[in-house]
Amino acid sequence: MTTPYEEIVQSLRQAFPKPVSDRMHDAYFVFSFMRALDRVDAMKSASPILGEPEDPDFDAARLARMADDPQTLEEVSAQLVDRLLGMFIWGHPRSQINVVPSPTIPSIIGGMLPSIYNPNLCSDESSRGVAATEIEATAMTADLVGYDAASAGGVFTFGGTGTLMYATRIGLEKACPNTGETGLREPAVIVCSDQAHYACRTIAAWMGLGEQNVIAVPTTDENEIRPCLLESFLRDVLKEGRRIACIVATMGTTDAFGLDDLQAIREIRDTLVDEFDLDYVPHLHADAVIGWAWSVFNDYDFEENPLGFQHRTVRSLAGTARRIQHLSLADSIGVDFHKTGFTPYVSSLFIAKDAADLSRIARADESMPYLFQSGHYHPGKFTLETTRSGSGPMAALANLLLFGRQGLQALLGHLVTMAEVLREHLEGHSATHVLNGANFGPVTLFRVYPDGVDTFSVPNREMNDIGYRDQLLAHNDYNRRIFEIINREALKGRGVVISLTDCYRETSYGEPVVGLKSYIMSPFSEEKYVDYVLDSIAQARDEEREAK
Ligand SMILES: *Cc1c(COP(=O)(O)O)cnc(C)c1O
Repeated sequence: MTTPYEEIVQSLRQAFPKPVSDRMHDAYFVFSFMRALDRVDAMKSASPILGEPEDPDFDAARLARMADDPQTLEEVSAQLVDRLLGMFIWGHPRSQINVVPSPTIPSIIGGMLPSIYNPNLCSDESSRGVAATEIEATAMTADLVGYDAASAGGVFTFGGTGTLMYATRIGLEKACPNTGETGLREPAVIVCSDQAHYACRTIAAWMGLGEQNVIAVPTTDENEIRPCLLESFLRDVLKEGRRIACIVATMGTTDAFGLDDLQAIREIRDTLVDEFDLDYVPHLHADAVIGWAWSVFNDYDFEENPLGFQHRTVRSLAGTARRIQHLSLADSIGVDFHKTGFTPYVSSLFIAKDAADLSRIARADESMPYLFQSGHYHPGKFTLETTRSGSGPMAALANLLLFGRQGLQALLGHLVTMAEVLREHLEGHSATHVLNGANFGPVTLFRVYPDGVDTFSVPNREMNDIGYRDQLLAHNDYNRRIFEIINREALKGRGVVISLTDCYRETSYGEPVVGLKSYIMSPFSEEKYVDYVLDSIAQARDEEREAK
């Protein structure tokens, strides 16, 4: 005689993977996943989204309640798949929206295996080989960016934002020792550029430093921090007796792919340490969550060009390498595999040049230094998170193995080649102007102008001449309208989905410059899709003209 509860448990067991070998049940597991994928496949079309571009029903979502009765695996998975309706397919060559990659199949498998077995990276007891994977992926990446992998150490965390948090937490312990214990008792600042990611402000707020203590140093037209201004800002901070929790060099800005001059920043830091006779060395962090991947070109022979890239591509890659090759001058580096490493979310790595820096933020000090020395691995003693998923390191390792240096060189080289083709066309056209011409990544920011605007002189005047303010604002609106037309058509499967940035930079007189943005991340990009962007612009301009 089975009770009702026993019956329920019996049927729910079907929905768990079998703990002992059971090929039939494995087949059911895999088949369930295949059916889900089949259902996703049915949503695909020529357009770069799944299904139709519908707005989600948020009102219905708020009314959702947990039911009394269980549902079957089949019923649940069908409903889950439907939640993907309207999603952009980032890996579609008609999708050039943002720095969102399409994950590779090995990285998806790497991300999924831990989903089945739940290794917890808190310690090696609960994650075994997956703990070693974290060390392995860290060592490979540390070596790639130019650190000595034997003395570097790192942990995967909850995003690029998390990597900045680790850097600043370590930097705070250097600048204001024992803050972890006592709390902050003197003002401390984060210094970054005005093009740095807003995550610097986020962590300042969350860590109790305060957003007011984030000092944003102005940038050049190339979106790079101005070293001389950095120096004078730092000098002011030190003269006022404030402490420096972290200096953040942005190595690949989010919108424009600007790269700070890390060499100059490091020199300034070192000079000021001597000059002010500081009792600490301000922590220097490279926010390279986007730019790190270009480290694969550190040993590329641009003269020989063995992979056969075009001239423009070689120039672009070399332009990036000239900054990225100095990454190892930073005390720590943030890496997002889920941006330019083609893994699923979330896979972010914080690397400290000196693993001992990590013990500065450990919770209990009796057991230090324990890292890599006792033969046990207990990152949970210093990580912000307690439970940490193995998916990040497993996905990262998958792609490090899959690509090798050459694979990533070829892939990034291809994306940059496509971006260069786009730039060449935009530069050659009288109605378009490339905004970030001096930044050499897969992202192109540009402005479109109506007939009769002299695009040789107007963009510059808009930027620097307050007499052009009205024109600037009118052209901002014009670009917004062009953007709307292009995206409306793209969602119907015509042309390419791009994005809009409300403020590429501020003009010298403080107004935002609106720009259109093409971020080419799809490995399936081809020149014809670049041509679609140009066709879309031409058609949008026609429609706009007729609407007048
Ligand atoms: C995206 C980004 C971040 C934030 O990273 P998340 O992974 O989104 O938390 C930080 N810095 C830069 C330069 C970025 O582009």
